[in-house]
Amino acid sequence: MGLAEELASWTHEQKCRKAVDSLEKHGFTALFCQTPEEAAEYIITTAADAQSIGFGGSMSVVSLGVEARLKELGKEILNHGNPAFSLEERLQIMRRQLTCDLFLSGCNAVTLSGELINIDATGNRVAAMFFGPQKVIVVAGRNKLVDGSPQDAITRVRNWATPPNSKRLSFKTPCATTGFCSDCNSPDRLCRVTTIIDRKPRFTDVRVLVVNADMGF
Ligand code: SF4
Repeated sequence: MGLAEELASWTHEQKCRKAVDSLEKHGFTALFCQTPEEAAEYIITTAADAQSIGFGGSMSVVSLGVEARLKELGKEILNHGNPAFSLEERLQIMRRQLTCDLFLSGCNAVTLSGELINIDATGNRVAAMFFGPQKVIVVAGRNKLVDGSPQDAITRVRNWATPPNSKRLSFKTPCATTGFCSDCNSPDRLCRVTTIIDRKPRFTDVRVLVVNADMGF
């Protein structure tokens, strides 16, 4: 790693640690991970006492490569993302994710003051993040950190996460063409459920891994 990269990484680390600190103050279990590999190991260790593992459809989680490892360990994988599934099959898996032992999710934005902000189209992912599963692990790369209010974070998601996601999913939204949010009313609109989890939900064990690497959008 060259000096410039090293200094940039150090600066990101300070922001990640600030977010971890704030999340802890808000009752979450929060951990700083220097690398995605550290986050992956934490997930595998934490999954030891879980049998059913739900996947919320996060690119950050996919990039960790934990699904295959958990499958090898004999865990039941609840992932609705297989394009071969019918809509009914997908919905069935999404419903089962709501009561799984461990739910793995990304996060669209994390404020440095300790709030988790997400925008969903269906709402299954955000629902499972705050009630239902025994345990939830949220993975957030450093590119998800926002030094601002939850409203600033929502603006970040609509301008930096939803346009590439719309494009990835071939949704016919204005942002998939322009790269900018126009608060559309398109039938394909992704932004339908916006959540701010500002304190640890009372009965859900939510752990947040803040990773010093760019992950997902
Ligand atoms: S409201 Fe519409 S245009 Fe704006 S980010 Fe969401 S899907 Fe894209």
